[in-house]
Amino acid sequence: MAYTDNYARPINYLRVSVTDLCNLRCVYCMPEGGVPKLAHDDVLRFEEIVRIVRLAVEMGIVHVRLTGGEPLARKGIAELVADLAHIPGLDDLSMTTNGTLLREHAGPLARAGLGRVNVSLDTLRPERFRHITRRGELADVLTGREAALDAGLRPVKVNVVVVRGMNDDEVVDLARLTLEPDWHIRFIEVMPLGKQTYWSGNGVVSSGEARARVEAALGPLTAVHGAGEGVGPARYYQLPGAAGTLGFISPITEHFCYACNRLRLTADGRLLPCLLSNIAIDLRTPLRAGASDADLGALLLKAIASKPQRHHLAENALSQSIPMSQIGG
Ligand code: SAM
Ligand code: SF4
Repeated sequence: MAYTDNYARPINYLRVSVTDLCNLRCVYCMPEGGVPKLAHDDVLRFEEIVRIVRLAVEMGIVHVRLTGGEPLARKGIAELVADLAHIPGLDDLSMTTNGTLLREHAGPLARAGLGRVNVSLDTLRPERFRHITRRGELADVLTGREAALDAGLRPVKVNVVVVRGMNDDEVVDLARLTLEPDWHIRFIEVMPLGKQTYWSGNGVVSSGEARARVEAALGPLTAVHGAGEGVGPARYYQLPGAAGTLGFISPITEHFCYACNRLRLTADGRLLPCLLSNIAIDLRTPLRAGASDADLGALLLKAIASKPQRHHLAENALSQSIPMSQIGG
């Protein structure tokens, strides 16, 4: 049974950032030179992550998503997956990745017990992909996505951060992919991340605007309930005759906070009750000082009890001081 927070929301989902490092530098996520690296010793070791996840699962967490930085940039990631996959009560183990390294990792990850992956991909144009990621190759992500499907890491959902002037002219092309089987696309409103933003004006394309453009070009969307839905804040739809789904995640224009079910663990062992607040509960220090399971469990409960009712992104720019690449989105 999951614990509920002070607003009666059951908390059953933990996102775990396994590294702050990334092989890309997406313009909306990191500055060109990257963000200051964590010291090696400050990053949680695998056995520390496994202990925290095991405790969290005992307290009602049933969904765990590995993220980063780039989770596939962490050495030995399949070993971590294997250890986590054996935790009794963990129903759903998934990963969010930029996909560039999936080709070689998909098979080992599936064999280790990973259930599915989300792949981040903002454009179908190779030159634009290089511009957005400042170093990546589109072909690697497309091949990686195929490898994930072949390995059975299904469904593969593709996350698209939509930014005005960057890729908003591709929403129809991307949405059209969902007419084919195995293409599930989710449009995400870009969150303004203070110093890490590269645009100065209004980069946000609302889900409403993206949806209107898609419907004008490709026909009316029908809401999908049940199997196509995930455990997160996306709302899912289908185009007429489509095999895949189209999701919209609207951190700016809609308050999905009322349904927030998650905690986040940063690569350096801080538990964040909310992506968009500065509250952080250090687990690493007590963990390394010999804390008991009961002590750590009390800190998990403290994080649950600290979840704010809602974020205030629409009213204020984000004040989060921890880089997105350490939190994991
Ligand atoms: N490196 C992996 C990846 O890109 O999928 C995992 C970490 S990344 C921080 C997780 C998700 O956060 C990605 O889907 C990424 O597109 C999204 N993201 C990063 N910066 C964002 C921003 N400013 N606004 C909205 N989403 C963002
Ligand atoms: Fe790296 Fe993911 Fe951030 Fe892009 S969005 S820089 S791939 S962590």
